[in-house]
Amino acid sequence: MVQPKAPALVPNSSAARALNLIGDRWTLLVLYAAFMRVSRFEGFIAMTGMARSLLVDRLGRLEAAGVLERRPYQTRPARHEYHLTAMGKDLYDSALMLLGWEMRWRMDPACPSHQIIHDPCGHPLRPVLVCQACTAPVKVRDIVLSPGPGAGSEPAPRARHSRRASDGPGTEGVGGVPLHPMLERSIEVLGDRWTAHLVAASFYGQTRFKDLQAQLKVASNILTDRLTRLVERGMLERRLYQTRPERWEYRLTREGRDFFPLIAALMAWGDRWLSGEAGPPEILTHSCGARLVPVVRCGACEGAVDVKTTRMGRAARQEQKPDSTPTL
Ligand SMILES: [Zn+2]
Ligand SMILES: [Zn+2]
Repeated sequence: MVQPKAPALVPNSSAARALNLIGDRWTLLVLYAAFMRVSRFEGFIAMTGMARSLLVDRLGRLEAAGVLERRPYQTRPARHEYHLTAMGKDLYDSALMLLGWEMRWRMDPACPSHQIIHDPCGHPLRPVLVCQACTAPVKVRDIVLSPGPGAGSEPAPRARHSRRASDGPGTEGVGGVPLHPMLERSIEVLGDRWTAHLVAASFYGQTRFKDLQAQLKVASNILTDRLTRLVERGMLERRLYQTRPERWEYRLTREGRDFFPLIAALMAWGDRWLSGEAGPPEILTHSCGARLVPVVRCGACEGAVDVKTTRMGRAARQEQKPDSTPTL
């Protein structure tokens, strides 16, 4: 009899835990729709173009994880809406960091989520993640990482699917009607679990194939595939560090390093919601000497940014579906 293989162990990491939960194309689209105030099943279908079975699966996963909650709105027949919980709403900082990165590298004036207005100053929102203590923007070179109370290792979660996220449909829409390619750029990086983990590992200074493989416990064909794609996408660059035999390392480009505020926001979220009684697995210390507490500020007025102080711009409002009006 063949014994089942013991699961590989990976270091505890709030970023990895967060990515295991949301690093999936369909999950990202469902969360995006939820932040656009979609709450009903047909509304999610209309906005994301997902197959019904996929939507049932992802809503169920997000509900089980505590990110969405089901509320009845009709009894006969029973119908439910899905709303973001406090844990789900707390992903807003991460969502803004994702959009901010998209806007810096591929601004699309037609994209509704690139049209957010910061109400207190009236300017289009350019969200910036800053250190709460010194208010300097969070940059990867200013951060020192040390083990936290929850440091250790845990079994690597089984891969749900190793197929690349962008191989599937998703922007075709219902009945062949094209949807706006929502989060297109972000989904290339964050919508595939291995790609997302690979980017996160790059911030830990892992640059070589063997080290990445050892940290992520990923099959070498998948690792080769994702590294190639991240090089093609301009997130990583390949450099020869040994000639006989040829050996290459993979370093983050400027665009790749600019992804760090999202990783920092996801780590903070994972610390708050996924680290349990053990506490955060890692402590981030900022160059000012304070423990990093990342907060979002408006790039124009430096004011605080949250769901209540932001709204969709005019172009975005016109594109919103009727279902996206608040249902509370
Ligand atoms: Zn600081
Ligand atoms: Zn502002």
